[in-house]
Amino acid sequence: MASDDRYVIPPPPQATIAVQGTSKTFPVRRIWCVGRNYVEHIREMGQDERLPPFYFAKPADAIVPDGGTVPYPSLTKDMHHEVELVVVLKSGGRNIPVDKANDCIYGYAVGIDLTRRDLQIASRDLKRPWEIGKAFDHSAPCGAIKPASETGHPKSGKITLKCNGKVRQDGDLNQLIWNVPEIISNLSEIVALEAGDIIMTGTPSGVAATVAGDKLECEVEGIGKLTVTIGQPLK
Ligand code: MN
Repeated sequence: MASDDRYVIPPPPQATIAVQGTSKTFPVRRIWCVGRNYVEHIREMGQDERLPPFYFAKPADAIVPDGGTVPYPSLTKDMHHEVELVVVLKSGGRNIPVDKANDCIYGYAVGIDLTRRDLQIASRDLKRPWEIGKAFDHSAPCGAIKPASETGHPKSGKITLKCNGKVRQDGDLNQLIWNVPEIISNLSEIVALEAGDIIMTGTPSGVAATVAGDKLECEVEGIGKLTVTIGQPLK
């Protein structure tokens, strides 16, 4: 890349996600995540299902592409998979009305909110932030995006994760507590959403530990697939 005199160091590379049917890629600005957006997952985590969902975030460069390998992260003995519908935005704004929210969507993908569960729970119990458990390197595998121009805006469809060929997570988008337009509208009251922001919309039940050597195969019906391998820890 040509040198750029504006910066004192080379600018970091732009994080991207592949788009189905084109060689062009989607540039990622921020990754927002919704916590506790499926009742069965709230129950398996022993949390109060009457409390509303909430948000946390991951760095854009936590994206791992389809076919990639996730090095088993440091400091944890209990990394969990959470398969999620990912919504990617082509525009944004503040205080977006629910009935205008779909206009902001470029497309959809399937992703995994990888979680150092032991560290997340320790943070939660100490009333500390969740970054150590959620926002680590390689923590956001994401499959190729299907443009909404081709899919429309799905209100239902199976969302699944298999580990080494065995089904572990098997939900449906119709189980979302806050649906996608509601998430976009609500999040836009908290921050100004912009093109390039992506949202992981929460996981159905069946989260479990994953270890080096595991092959995780995810699918959202009508949207796409994602396969990643969990690798050895980095030296
Ligand atoms: Mn999640």
